[in-house]
Amino acid sequence: MTGGAIPVFGGVALDMRGLAGVTGVDRTSGLVTALCGTYGPELARELEQRHGLTLGHWPQSIDVSTVGGWVACRAVGQYSTRYGKIEDIVNGLEVVLADGRVVRTGGLAGAGPRSSTGPDLTQLFLGSEGTLGIITSAQLRARPLPPTERRAAFAFPSFDEGLEAIRRTLQRGATPAVVRLHDTTEAARSWGVDQGHLLIALDEGDEHVIEASMRVLAEECRHATPLDPAVVGRWLEKRNDVSELTEITRLGIVADTIEVAACWSELPALYHDALAALSEVPGNLFGSAHGSHSYVDGGCLYFTFAGQGTGPDDLPAREEFYRRSWSAVMEATLRHRGSISHHHGIGLVRSGYLRQALGEGFSVLEGVKTSLDPEGILNPGKLGLPCRFGPSPWAEPDPSTSPERGGQGPTAEGPHDGGARS
Ligand SMILES: Cc1cc2nc3c(=O)[nH]c(=O)nc-3n(C[C@H](O)[C@H](O)[C@H](O)COP(=O)(O)OP(=O)(O)OC[C@H]3O[C@@H](n4cnc5c(N)ncnc54)[C@H](O)[C@@H]3O)c2cc1C
Repeated sequence: MTGGAIPVFGGVALDMRGLAGVTGVDRTSGLVTALCGTYGPELARELEQRHGLTLGHWPQSIDVSTVGGWVACRAVGQYSTRYGKIEDIVNGLEVVLADGRVVRTGGLAGAGPRSSTGPDLTQLFLGSEGTLGIITSAQLRARPLPPTERRAAFAFPSFDEGLEAIRRTLQRGATPAVVRLHDTTEAARSWGVDQGHLLIALDEGDEHVIEASMRVLAEECRHATPLDPAVVGRWLEKRNDVSELTEITRLGIVADTIEVAACWSELPALYHDALAALSEVPGNLFGSAHGSHSYVDGGCLYFTFAGQGTGPDDLPAREEFYRRSWSAVMEATLRHRGSISHHHGIGLVRSGYLRQALGEGFSVLEGVKTSLDPEGILNPGKLGLPCRFGPSPWAEPDPSTSPERGGQGPTAEGPHDGGARS
């Protein structure tokens, strides 16, 4: 999604698919060990059919992503409010370091469900995007298959009111598996709803637990317009279909998505600021957003934008549009003290912003990298880390060129052909 797997300096690419399959199941504890080249559907099928279990981890990319990729990118599934994000699901890892040492952490080192044995080494490798080690195996927390499911949908007159209803729901302790808020642009374009900003909710699990969760949600949505929950069914059917974006990129239009996160106190303003900034980028055709994951203290905003430069065949203009659109959302997020990535990671496209986002913490990351990979051989040029092979594309943005200041964002060559991705 962010260019993390592109070998910008050449080198050796590892195909992890040979390391596939479930190697251990503790049904009583709900713990599953899987090799890291295992694809999502293969793992889900085996857990469901042979063990009556689910991870509840359903990223939109489930069909094309692996256990190792989920861990390496700190992935988040669409049902995350009930089942947690990958960092909640992972209980231990096996990682091969740059010098060949094999490290086992957490449950795979025999540490049980939790421990206070110094910093959490499992979490160190979550989000490391291939720069600190090769993840070969993961122990994951699974749950019994859910016996019950409930769905609901509402329309809100404003995006801010929808966010407020979600905030109050989460802060009352309710955790419906899926709570999404699509703005009017997306509600009409993708889900055929024209009554306002669309809130989609779905919960699954124990009947008593989900009844309570959905009742709290309904109470907090009492001033909104209730909609036919059939729209939730439409979302379930189409939720992983990104062919719309693929089609428009074929027309020479640049389209991409950017997910960020912020606290509730900043989230509404970030939504409005980022969309305004996107609309000011020359060539912009549209910008839209939805809230896709929520927490007690804040949530994720997932922006989609599309546009072009001076013409479909004008690659430099399309690249400029792409860079400026990214800068617009990154800058707005940093202004609102948000996180520049909620779940897609840093890769190349965000690498120029990580130093600013982490502050002095970036030097700690550099120290960890130097310690674990002194030769700098693991996924060089990613996460904006210093690289012995030369400057990494997008690694050093010139802040004076951000669109806010009238410039064009990062100045080095970009990794993409106009951002034709979803
Ligand atoms: C259409 C689409 C929808 C998406 N939806 C979601 C979503 O809902 N939620 C979400 O979180 N993400 C989503 N993503 C982003 C991405 O698919 C996920 O982050 C996924 O977890 C990446 O896994 P992968 O196996 O495809 O990894 P890759 O793309 O192959 O690799 C990603 C990075 O991880 C590193 N890596 C991969 N495997 C290992 C390993 N075994 N050890 C060390 N490093 C490794 C690579 O070097 C690279 O830097 C989406 C992507 C697409 C294209």
